[in-house]
Amino acid sequence: MSENYDLHCHSTASDGALSPTELVQRAHEKGVTSLALTDHDTTAGLAEAQVAATATGIKLIRGIELSTNWQNKCFHIVGLGINPDHPQLAEATHNLHLMRIERAEKIAYKLEKKRIPGALEAVRKAAGDGMITRTHFADFLLSQNHVSTQQEAFDRYLGDGKSAYVSTSWTDMSQAINWITESGGIAVLAHPMRYKLTASWMKRLLTAFKEAGGQGIEVITGRINADEIRLVSDYATRFELAGSVGSDFHSPANQWVELGRLAPLPKDIKPVWELLN
Ligand code: AMP
Ligand code: MN
Ligand code: MN
Ligand code: MN
Repeated sequence: MSENYDLHCHSTASDGALSPTELVQRAHEKGVTSLALTDHDTTAGLAEAQVAATATGIKLIRGIELSTNWQNKCFHIVGLGINPDHPQLAEATHNLHLMRIERAEKIAYKLEKKRIPGALEAVRKAAGDGMITRTHFADFLLSQNHVSTQQEAFDRYLGDGKSAYVSTSWTDMSQAINWITESGGIAVLAHPMRYKLTASWMKRLLTAFKEAGGQGIEVITGRINADEIRLVSDYATRFELAGSVGSDFHSPANQWVELGRLAPLPKDIKPVWELLN
């Protein structure tokens, strides 16, 4: 049987709709043979995912997606093959959990001032023990009919600079790369096309990313087109980065993104899984 890698997805430990067990089972059903669970700023879903992975025979790669800052912009760095028990990483995720609670309080306060009460209670309930994200707020706004799509929630309230936006100091990008590498993992720049960078900014970003110890870039993501694949492949080659493949799956409700339905990595790109043991 041929290998099928999906190295970026989310569970209820952050803003995914499926529990780690359900996620692993769905990945198995969709033909994934190696899955990396990469929840936002947390490794809390990994232990449960490992139990389900062992039961189904899928290979689980322990991952995380860290929210980071570089040059006052936010970039997501995926860590693959990390050790969640590494003291620095464990302390970091603990602090990020508290930080996300404080941020949620601020977002809820801004919504309250816009005559939208009850957000904090709702997102805390929805997130449970997991990380509170803007996705939880979007779902709340949707459920209360303040918006008619998740996208509208970001466009009107939650997106960068919108009325309930709270600017957050995330982890410094090089710090995040250090945590990942020190814990035995490979740092991968997530969904590079989503940042809408000019070519010169992209080059500066990749230079800084490489210098800090970054080793991979997502060449194949959930909704990437052929032109974008060529463009990112060129960056991978030029900056000597391994290529990763990840859907960024969040929920079965999003019909456009499914687990294990990704285009193959171009032949001339070094696969990131060759760097994982
Ligand atoms: P946070 O890390 O709390 O800032 O939340 C970011 C998450 O919100 C991302 O990982 C996406 O899942 C989701 N998100 C961000 N922008 C959008 C958007 N425009 N539409 C839908 N979901 C979004
Ligand atoms: Mn997300
Ligand atoms: Mn992301
Ligand atoms: Mn993601």
